[in-house]
Amino acid sequence: MARTIRCECGYVARGDSDDDVITAIRAHMRTDHPALLEAVAREDLLGWIQVE
Ligand SMILES: [Zn+2]
Repeated sequence: MARTIRCECGYVARGDSDDDVITAIRAHMRTDHPALLEAVAREDLLGWIQVE
């Protein structure tokens, strides 16, 4: 089952595992929201994951 994290800007990161989707959303934050990348912990990202 795919995992997704929806960013506040509307971007949706997808992955096949928790690690995949966290890697994807962090790559997006690094380019679009560098301040957010610092502020959001891995535990927060885990809480944002939705399983589709
Ligand atoms: Zn975003």
